[in-house]
Amino acid sequence: LTDRLTDVFQRIGRKGRLTEQDVDEALREVRRALLEADVNYRVVKDFIAAVREQAIGEDVLRSLTPAQQVISIVHKELVRVLGSERVPLTWASQPPTVILLVGLQGSGKTTHVAKLGHHLRGEGRQPLLVAADIYRPAAVEQLRTLGRQHDLPVYDEGTQAKPVEIVKHAIKLARERRLDPVIVDTAGRLQIDERMMQELEEIKAAVRPSEILLVADAMTGQEAVSVAEEFHRRLQLTGLILTKMDGDARGGAALSIRSVVGVPIKFIGTGERVDALEPFYPERLATRILGMGDVLSLIEKAQQQISQEESERLQEKVLTGTFNLEDFLNQLQQIKRMGPLTQLLEMLPGVGQALRQQQVQISDDEYKHIEAIILSMTPEERRHPDIINFSRRRRIARGSGTSMAEVNQLLSQFKQMQRVMAQLGDMAGVGRRRGGLR
Ligand code: GDP
Ligand code: MG
Repeated sequence: LTDRLTDVFQRIGRKGRLTEQDVDEALREVRRALLEADVNYRVVKDFIAAVREQAIGEDVLRSLTPAQQVISIVHKELVRVLGSERVPLTWASQPPTVILLVGLQGSGKTTHVAKLGHHLRGEGRQPLLVAADIYRPAAVEQLRTLGRQHDLPVYDEGTQAKPVEIVKHAIKLARERRLDPVIVDTAGRLQIDERMMQELEEIKAAVRPSEILLVADAMTGQEAVSVAEEFHRRLQLTGLILTKMDGDARGGAALSIRSVVGVPIKFIGTGERVDALEPFYPERLATRILGMGDVLSLIEKAQQQISQEESERLQEKVLTGTFNLEDFLNQLQQIKRMGPLTQLLEMLPGVGQALRQQQVQISDDEYKHIEAIILSMTPEERRHPDIINFSRRRRIARGSGTSMAEVNQLLSQFKQMQRVMAQLGDMAGVGRRRGGLR
């Protein structure tokens, strides 16, 4: 999906003014790309209609950068369909909070019970995992093993007890031991199955869970939509966990399920390991679906946020090893206006490559700290970070409301970055050619 959309946008990005026909042609491509990515046809239809309505408005077509505006409308609409805001888990007013994971066999329920437990313990909770999938002895054992490996308590009664009883007993135990939340692994079949649904309804009625999360395999596309609809009809889902978003990472299923079922995606699973779980951010997935690296570079050109000259000047500084913290701050501030940070950093001349080589990822929060730290330095310190000694560090940490550790980390990361940049310069032969000029 990403590649296809990127192509489309590159094509319309080259044109200056657009006609209504241009927009329609581009949207036909978007439509085809979405359908090929297995997005549900109803979802595609509504999506295209919504984008078209906004895109053929007078203001867009008569503006100087219509292609960029169309792209930005597609992006905004994607974010909207994906749910706009991140929706956190709901907690019961009386602990323990009960979280039921439901879904077809193989979708990733058992794995995600453990992932969710691990994730929530990381947030200071004390989860209890419950093995209520009694139809496959292997499932109980699988959860026990995961619990042992990651030091999470697991409640099970083997495979003879009734699931609803197991869950009730588990909640009682959780109350006594002050464990919260109770995360329940339930049975799944290969297809929707009446007995499975009744069992889940029975558990729901008996324990009134705060969350009933459908675990859906993102690789199954269309199929996932009808499955999700049926689960929702029977159980009134409160959210989704979309698994197997690693690898081929198609956005199709996410888009469809979110849109058809109308409940928020709360987490995405991105691998087999217990820590491969991420809270879901609509903005990020929309960006991923669009392949924003290229799209944003179009927008960048149009808006001239970083002028050609400025960019050449920075490139030279990067390659000659004279890029300093002041330049870094400048670049950060310029790109901050333009959107999600990590993608944007990638586009900076030299910086993206330097960050990639060190595998640095900067979150928006960290970014705010970085900015605060550099702002708390004197111009002299920014230009010559080497002079920043212990007492200067302490002053900077205080001034920026951060810690000495964070200041130290920034300085050492920056130093590493400079080293990588110098290497890049050497590779390009620039250091040797121009090094003497400075
Ligand atoms: P269940 O039948 O719904 O309980 O599914 P399982 O939790 O047993 O998972 C089925 C398979 O999918 C296992 O081999 C898991 O390791 C794998 N799996 C689960 N989640 C993910 C994920 O997010 N990414 C990948 N790559 N594999 C996953
Ligand atoms: Mg299982």
